[in-house]
Amino acid sequence: VNKITVGHVHMSGCTGCLVSLADNYEGLFKILDDYADLVYCLTLADVRHIPEMDVALVEGSVCLQDECSVREIKETREKAKVVVALGGCAAYGNITRFCRGGQWNQPQHESYVPIGDLIDVDVYLPSCPPGAEAIRNVCVMAYLLLQGNDDQKALAGAYLKPLMDLAKRGTEACGCDLMVDVINQGLCMGCGTCAASCPVRAITIEYGRPNIDREMCIKCGACYAQCPRSFFSFDVVNQFEGIIEAIDGAMGK
Ligand code: SF4
Ligand code: SF4
Ligand code: SF4
Repeated sequence: VNKITVGHVHMSGCTGCLVSLADNYEGLFKILDDYADLVYCLTLADVRHIPEMDVALVEGSVCLQDECSVREIKETREKAKVVVALGGCAAYGNITRFCRGGQWNQPQHESYVPIGDLIDVDVYLPSCPPGAEAIRNVCVMAYLLLQGNDDQKALAGAYLKPLMDLAKRGTEACGCDLMVDVINQGLCMGCGTCAASCPVRAITIEYGRPNIDREMCIKCGACYAQCPRSFFSFDVVNQFEGIIEAIDGAMGK
């Protein structure tokens, strides 16, 4: 088996996304045994410099006042074939948008931007953190896309397309985008996750649907990153059985 190489690049994140990756337990060992070598990870691999790799899972936003972080994210783009924004902070800024004003880390650290503001990103995997299974699935699908046969490549492409479309859509996401892309499309299931994730309490759930106070919204994208329907795809739903079969087969179930 030709394994792919995967790295975890840690920007300004809370490590929650990495913990979620590790929450795959034996599934993580299966991935590392059969599909992917972890070639870079400040927490789990003793490697100092960012190496060439197939897939970079980038956690956290980038602090513009930290030259080292800015250099590292650009180096990651140069060395990785596929860059995945892992989690809401890397994709939209999420709660780190709230850090403007120097509240976090060091007083001179004032501006945190999503990685897509500095480099091209191939795949978004939002949520805070993304679920363990979702990260596992993206790793397996990246493997199938790079090393699989034609059928597997097509299936992996279908699975990853909505996440690639999210990356193309850009780094800006606010409560209004939730309104346009989810609520107005009839996709909202009234779960309330968006309201619970909003750091400024701009969202209230009324009559089972979110109501967004635009005046209060700071455009952090947390609600969009957290909404389970913001990357809903009928294509993925229609191919669900084939996708699950491919992942189960890959994981030896
Ligand atoms: Fe932490 Fe959530 Fe940001 Fe991941 S997306 S780094 S879990 S705050
Ligand atoms: Fe962020 Fe709240 Fe605005 Fe959503 S509504 S982008 S969570 S401030
Ligand atoms: Fe609706 Fe998404 Fe908010 Fe849930 S998180 S209430 S699905 S808009």
